Amino acid sequence: MPARTGAQFLDRLARTRTHVQVQGETLTGGVASHPAFANVVRSYAELFDMQHDPRLRDVLTYPSPLTGEPVATSFLVPRTEADLVKRRQAFRLWADASLGMLGRTGDYLNSALMALASAADWFGRQDDRFARNIRAYYEKVREEDLLLTHTLIPPQANRAVAGSQQAAGTLMAHIVREDDNGIVVRGARMLATIGPFADELLVFPSTVLRGTPEDKPYSFAFAVPSDAPGLRYIAREPLDYGRSHFDHPLGSRFDESDAVVVFDDVHVPYERCFTLGDPELCNGFYLATSAIEQMTHQVVARTTAKTEYILGLTCLLTEAIGIGQFQHVQADIAEIITTLETLRAFGRAAEADAAVNSYGVLTPAWAPLNAARNLYPRLYQRFPEILRKLGASGLMAIPAEADIAGPAAADIGTYLQAATLTGAERVRLFRLVWDTCASAFASRQALYEYYFFGDPVRMAGAYVSGYDRSPYMARVRDFLDRPG
Ligand SMILES: Cc1cc2nc3c(=O)[nH]c(=O)nc-3n(C[C@H](O)[C@H](O)[C@H](O)COP(=O)(O)OP(=O)(O)OC[C@H]3O[C@@H](n4cnc5c(N)ncnc54)[C@H](O)[C@@H]3O)c2cc1C
Repeated sequence: MPARTGAQFLDRLARTRTHVQVQGETLTGGVASHPAFANVVRSYAELFDMQHDPRLRDVLTYPSPLTGEPVATSFLVPRTEADLVKRRQAFRLWADASLGMLGRTGDYLNSALMALASAADWFGRQDDRFARNIRAYYEKVREEDLLLTHTLIPPQANRAVAGSQQAAGTLMAHIVREDDNGIVVRGARMLATIGPFADELLVFPSTVLRGTPEDKPYSFAFAVPSDAPGLRYIAREPLDYGRSHFDHPLGSRFDESDAVVVFDDVHVPYERCFTLGDPELCNGFYLATSAIEQMTHQVVARTTAKTEYILGLTCLLTEAIGIGQFQHVQADIAEIITTLETLRAFGRAAEADAAVNSYGVLTPAWAPLNAARNLYPRLYQRFPEILRKLGASGLMAIPAEADIAGPAAADIGTYLQAATLTGAERVRLFRLVWDTCASAFASRQALYEYYFFGDPVRMAGAYVSGYDRSPYMARVRDFLDRPG
């Protein structure tokens, strides 16, 4: 099956028996019609439909090298500058559809998988079968247009010890035995966003392993269907409260759901394993394969789209209530513009300095992408702060949709009018501002942007230790040594 439509995505989901705990309820299927997930699933279905829109399909798809049928552009192995541009344009179309709020659109992990499969020989260093497996899995996901999620980090029981040492090693997902056909996995991973409605779960390495023999049972990369026997998701409380798009414009569309992942003796066939029992290989997983660059290319496209949205929203807010002329307001807007232009520059530099990696893949430059990855988690936190500051009490003067045409309609029309908007228009705008900066949905967005790519503190540590600072230190030393 080539690039799927929304109906095909929903049809497969209807046949999937994913085990999900949500608010005391146990689901074994039927996720798409459950109120906790129905709206966001619809938003995802709309993304799949975009692939068939005659105005968009040339960007969102390309001919499968296997069948010639259209498949998603995020699977395209970039060889030329035009390929990279097409990939970025496709990222942007999906990012704009959710104003950048959906972090786990399929293109994020499809990009990783494309890079991993292209680097199949790297997996083959351990065993030829792993090289074959990653290639075959990439082709399967591409041809079936499957929606992937991933889970990386161990449970958060005690961060003073390695994940593999928590509760005598029993908490973190680990291999308990092997049989003739595969491995059996027990334990948990902390989180998988969109887990409840993804088709497949990638269980990939993350937290750097120590590389000791004791880490072997915790060292693996494999993929399982979301409804694999023994796999359970424990979803957080939904932030979509079933309210209208007017009342909760973002939460009613884009609440992606995050879920703890439990492996209760999940059997994983060998053909779905990509590396096993090699901590060193696991530690090099993303960098050695260039998966990190391809994923971050998608992330920068999405966060650029999101920042454009924030800029537009902030300007509509300031225009509405006539505060755009105040200097501190302009300083805040300038800060958003600066972030936007910084992201654009990083994106352009990454493409302009792209180079072919050792597997023949044109890979966006890591230096600008890494800078973006280290900056945005912090910069994003300012956006809700700015919106709260500028919206002020207006963020609480937000009656519900039912009030707009109800007994308070006349008062709303009179007292909630804005300099440029009627009362009803102003409430609609301010509800969007509230859902971007002050609602539970907004709070989760800020947390997501801060943490989804890893802990910024530890990322900064890795950034510093991996950055060649020696020429600059030498220059300063030279200056100090200059003869007086
Ligand atoms: C909304 C959201 C969605 C997510 N989705 C996914 C997903 O789909 N898949 C997935 O795999 N992960 C996902 N994550 C998890 C994400 O990768 C982690 O949040 C991130 O790696 C940080 O790990 P942690 O949350 O366990 O924090 P912890 O490691 O528990 O850190 C908690 C605090 O302690 C500090 N700390 C802990 N250990 C150290 C240390 N060794 N040195 C210095 N400081 C330390 C941290 O700086 C932080 O302040 C998601 C997270 C969020 C918030």
